[in-house]
Amino acid sequence: MSSSGQIELSLVIPTFNEEGNVQRLYNEILLVLQQLQITTYEVIFIDDGSSDQSLQRIEALRAQDTNVHYLQFSRNYGHQHALKAGLDHARGAAVISLDADLQHPPALIADMVQLWRQGAEVVYTRRNDKQNVGLFKKLSAKAFYWLANRLSEVPIEEGTADFRLLDRKVVDAIKTFKESHLFLRGLIPTLGFKQVALDYEPAARFSGQSKYSLGKMFHFAINGITSSSAKPLYFSIYLGLFFAFLAFVYGCYAIYIAVFTDAAITGWTSLIASVLFIGGIQMILIGIVGIYLGKLFVQSKQRPTYIIKSNTLSSTASHEE
Ligand code: UDP
Ligand code: MG
Repeated sequence: MSSSGQIELSLVIPTFNEEGNVQRLYNEILLVLQQLQITTYEVIFIDDGSSDQSLQRIEALRAQDTNVHYLQFSRNYGHQHALKAGLDHARGAAVISLDADLQHPPALIADMVQLWRQGAEVVYTRRNDKQNVGLFKKLSAKAFYWLANRLSEVPIEEGTADFRLLDRKVVDAIKTFKESHLFLRGLIPTLGFKQVALDYEPAARFSGQSKYSLGKMFHFAINGITSSSAKPLYFSIYLGLFFAFLAFVYGCYAIYIAVFTDAAITGWTSLIASVLFIGGIQMILIGIVGIYLGKLFVQSKQRPTYIIKSNTLSSTASHEE
């Protein structure tokens, strides 16, 4: 599918404190590339502000194999931005993104490339959550997809992660998006193209710990939902209407009591309760509006979404950012 002299396959790997995984991951990737008889490739590590020896490990690989490249961020920008930087700089006819911790089994790359060669333009993967994933992570992921799919226009399939192959055409399409709050999982299904799914069993993280704390995961979920959907704003209107309606009904009831019965309104308790309740609801709604406003604010500044400190790829991509 690629013309001669071009790079056939790029691998994009967000890397944040993964010193124990870099070498092993590279070995496994190389094995698959040999199987596939791909000789023109690039392995791009995006060092997302690691504070361990990750970059030194990557440089050591690069000393043996000049197809290994890295983009070093000036600080930690987060997984999604690392992915975007990788896509912005990758040159391959197809680009595969995968995690550095070997939870995305490199062996699957062979199947992805096969499907791509048969004409698929997006090969996304679905995690089969049976083992190797903590109960909490499993439940929180379930809750996220449940909510996200109720709120977003295009459903995100459960268990899909940022382990996918994208054809050059799709990568070029994604590069035209200038969103400062990027959520690729929500964006890519909306793009169209020929999308094919691939199921896999996740492996356990090979070395180190998950970089996603509970707080980060919560933030990720809210960001994901509000990046791909404006429905929460409608939700806030409906909720507001619902409580206005309840208040109206209660008001009618209060008038009825006052006019047609002798029971004086002594409802101090119910009054306070409803005031607090409505107050709480209002705060949630203002919060929802605020999230969108904040995103507009950040977007309006048009700042670059990441800053690269050092780069082994000739900087052909994304000057205009
Ligand atoms: N990662 C990153 N920046 C971050 C957090 C994570 O580049 O701020 C990378 C990390 O090195 C790994 C991938 O993103 O390659 C997924 O992270 P992790 O394994 O911690 O997430 P989990 O698998 O637990 O969801
Ligand atoms: Mg992981």
